[in-house]
This record gives sequence, structure tokens and C-alpha cells, in this order.
Amino acid sequence: TNDPINSKVVIITGASSGLGEATARRLADRGAKLVLAARREDRLKSLAEELTAKGADVLWQVTDVTDRHQVEKLAAAARKTFGRIDVLINNAGLMPLAPLDALKVDEWEQMIDVNIKGVLYGIAAVLPTMREQHSGHVINLSSVAGHKVFAGGAVYCATKYAVKALSEGLRMEAGDEIRSTNISPGAIATELTSTITDPNAAEAAKELYKVAIDADAVARAIVYAIEQPHDVDINEIILRPTAQE
Ligand code: NDP
Repeated sequence: TNDPINSKVVIITGASSGLGEATARRLADRGAKLVLAARREDRLKSLAEELTAKGADVLWQVTDVTDRHQVEKLAAAARKTFGRIDVLINNAGLMPLAPLDALKVDEWEQMIDVNIKGVLYGIAAVLPTMREQHSGHVINLSSVAGHKVFAGGAVYCATKYAVKALSEGLRMEAGDEIRSTNISPGAIATELTSTITDPNAAEAAKELYKVAIDADAVARAIVYAIEQPHDVDINEIILRPTAQE
């Protein structure tokens, strides 16, 4: 087919739920070769089986993005199975919101490890291959929280501002070989709020997420960035529920 997405090799981290899963479904429909990664084996396996049954080419590999070597192995598996890496979607992330006063230092470290270091490990794992191919596309999940700081979200926002900086830095260094896209969603109904342990922050999130929209809205935005011709780089997409403040 002439579909620009057909046969593209796409790695998705955090593919076991939410935005990653919704994006995998959209891309499978378009004939992409998928490499699905996350920690939960049962979820990855059942998604892979479902998409394979529909005729998609799917590889899945249990991967903790906080472990650099596991991320390297993921990229190596993609290359070994499909011969190349066209797109990396750095999507794995968590959002345990809490005021700084709550001193949830372990959660701060977890957010930095997954949301920032995980993204960097992903870039490190695919960049040499994309340079060798003289083509590639890195899509990072930042957030509206990467554009606007809110109380209770200092550390989460810091990680998403960092992701935005990495997307832009990569774009500026990548020349005409590698496309860089920063995706910044507002409230989307996924499992993301389940990582909140602070009761007040959980209550506030519940209120905000009353207007949340379906994960497929973000999947469609990601598909739009990928389906552009190579000389068009969609740098940034911000999307919110129409009803979000
Ligand atoms: P989910 O909680 O549904 O999905 C998060 C995914 O990340 C899961 O698949 C989870 O899989 C994976 N993950 C978490 N930790 C790790 C890890 N250490 N290694 C590998 N995978 C990991 O939330 P969303 O789909 O909403 O989140 C996806 C991204 O979108 C995140 O980066 C989030 O910050 C961002 N985002 C979400 C918004 C929203 O409102 N939902 C708004 C703006 C941005 P597993 O547990 O199996 O490892």
C-alpha cells in the first residue's frame, strides 16, 4: 500500500495500557511493525496476541525503562526481528502527584528515573541505528504539565519540562535525518492517576479528570505526526479535552 505508516518499525514503551496501548492499536491497523514494551507481561502478551490475530506484525518484550541495559536489549531485539527502527515512542511514565511538603522522595526519584532517564535511555538505544539509516523519528510524551506548573505537581511538571527540552534539543541537533515530536496531552482517561498515593492530590486529580477524554485522541495525534512525509517534522502537539480549563 501507499500508506506511509505501512511497514514502519515502531517501538512503544509503556504499551501495556493507556496511551501506549491505544497507539499500538491505531498503528497496527495501519500496518506498522510493532515492538511493545512495558513491565507487565500479561498485559503485553494479550495485546500482542490480539493484534497478531488481526494480522499485525508484533514483537513484545518485558522492559523496565529505568534499566539502561533492558532498553538497549529492546532496541537490539527490534533490529534483529525487523531489521531497522523507524520510530521510538517514549511513552512510559508515571504521575504520583503530591505537594513537596509530603516529602515523597522515593516517588520523586521514580518519576525522574522513568519520565526523564527512561526517555534518555530510549534515545541512546535508537540514535546510532537512526543515524546509520539516515532516518528516524523520536516521539516523546510530555504533557500540558510540561508547559504549565501546578501546585502538587512540582516534580511531575519538572520531568515533563525536561522531556520538552529533550525533544527540542534532539530536534535542533538532528539535522535532516531524525524527526523529533513532543506530544503534550491534557487530561486523558487512563491508569495514570492510579499512581497517586497522596489523598488530597488524588481528590484534586479526580476533579480534573472528570472532563478526561479517550486515549484514542492522543493515538490519532501520534499517527498524524508519523504519517507526515520525512521532510515534515511535527514538532509539538498540545491537545486538551475541550472542557478542560
Ligand atoms: P498509564 O498509567 O495508563 O500508562 C503508563 C505506562 O507506562 C504503562 O504501560 C506502564 O506499564 C508504563 N510504565 C510505567 N513505569 C514503567 C517502567 N519503569 N518501565 C516500563 N514501562 C513503565 O498512563 P498513560 O497512558 O496516561 O501515560 C502514558 C504517558 O502519557 C506518560 O508519560 C504520561 O506522563 C503521559 N501523559 C498522560 C496524560 C494523561 O492525562 N493520561 C496527560 C499528559 C501526559 P507497566 O506498569 O506494565 O510497566
